[in-house]
Amino acid sequence: MNEKRERVIFLADCQSFYASVEKADHPECRDMPVAVAGSVERRSGIILAACPIAKGYGVTTAERLGEALTKCPELVVIRPRMQHYMDVSRMITKIYEEFTDLVEIFSIDEQFLDITASLPFFGDPVTIAKSIQQKVLSQTGVRVRIGISSNKILAKIATDIWAKKNENGIFTLPASEIETLLWPQPVHKMFGVGSRMSAHFAALGMNSIGDIAGTPLPCLKDKFRARFGRQSDIHAEVMWRTANGLDDSPVNPGTFETPPKSVGHMMTLPRDYTEPWEVDTILLELTEEVCRDCRRQGYMGFVVTVSCMCSPYESPTGFSRQMKMTDPTNHTNTVMKTVRRLFYKYWDQMPVRRVGVTLSQLVDDRTYQLTLFEDQVKLRALDQATDSIKSRYGSAAIIRASSLTDAGQAKDRSLKIGGHFK
Ligand SMILES: [Mg+2]
Repeated sequence: MNEKRERVIFLADCQSFYASVEKADHPECRDMPVAVAGSVERRSGIILAACPIAKGYGVTTAERLGEALTKCPELVVIRPRMQHYMDVSRMITKIYEEFTDLVEIFSIDEQFLDITASLPFFGDPVTIAKSIQQKVLSQTGVRVRIGISSNKILAKIATDIWAKKNENGIFTLPASEIETLLWPQPVHKMFGVGSRMSAHFAALGMNSIGDIAGTPLPCLKDKFRARFGRQSDIHAEVMWRTANGLDDSPVNPGTFETPPKSVGHMMTLPRDYTEPWEVDTILLELTEEVCRDCRRQGYMGFVVTVSCMCSPYESPTGFSRQMKMTDPTNHTNTVMKTVRRLFYKYWDQMPVRRVGVTLSQLVDDRTYQLTLFEDQVKLRALDQATDSIKSRYGSAAIIRASSLTDAGQAKDRSLKIGGHFK
């Protein structure tokens, strides 16, 4: 039998990442409970990260600041510095890259490493994990927990269920031991299963991860279809493969190093547009194109630029103005708000000939975990669903209602390759 060599995969997770970075920068807070939260001046802000001391008081991620302060009145609250966290995250990735060139960014504070080829140079997996921990701690002040296994899903599970709870922050989960170690665990501990999903599994009579793993896949698909409808086959398969620890996907070093400078689209209109609703329609189409490109390439942007040229040609008026948003985004409606604000601030009401929308100061969106905000997740899911339908059936498959008006260009343009855009 031609057996492939077993891989050695790490999932390295930074403990209380934002809070750890802040504590490293504020040594005077070393022994104090520290949390990073948005909207610090309002008690309605959300806790983005809490240090272990704060967690000892019962402070949890994603709860309201007001609640956290009730549990822990002496909590030191710091407002987030996202750009700085991204810089530190990149530094940590660089440290990992001293041990292997196969590093995949999973989120701002989690990376996969394939160290299979590094073993002859740096020692056994646990030795490498310890070296990595020491190096990251001494250079950034951040504590890293490492799950070790033979594929990505098992490494992730090893971190989430065990390494995060361990004294030394390292846990090895060999594929041969999932039956004894993983399968007795309750369903809610499985990666990808939230509280709603575990309630569904309970209703299906599945309480342990082994209950999912032991159900033949066709049978699990049938149960999912009965509960979630016909579209649920893939979901059933993902759950089944996770429970069985099956994952062939390679650790994929991304394009994190070189995001493009900007993503923008510009359009010359077929005639002069004078009515705000006509211009709005085009701005929305351009914004949608820009955001869709960003989502497809995995970027979010901080800065929105709107440019506009007005008739007459002999003495055109126009502007190109930009505005920085508080958080980077690639969500169409969010960007559109800034686009409109800019446009109507600077438009002199002259007939519009040419408009453009650009998103710049791009960051990798994998480093941005917005899962804390449920509505963000829903917005992203909606954008992704729209994108996938468009990429499968062409961009005319779904267009906004305003694009069906006379001013809309989206339907027309999607029939051309390249269209008016450059
Ligand atoms: Mg973490």
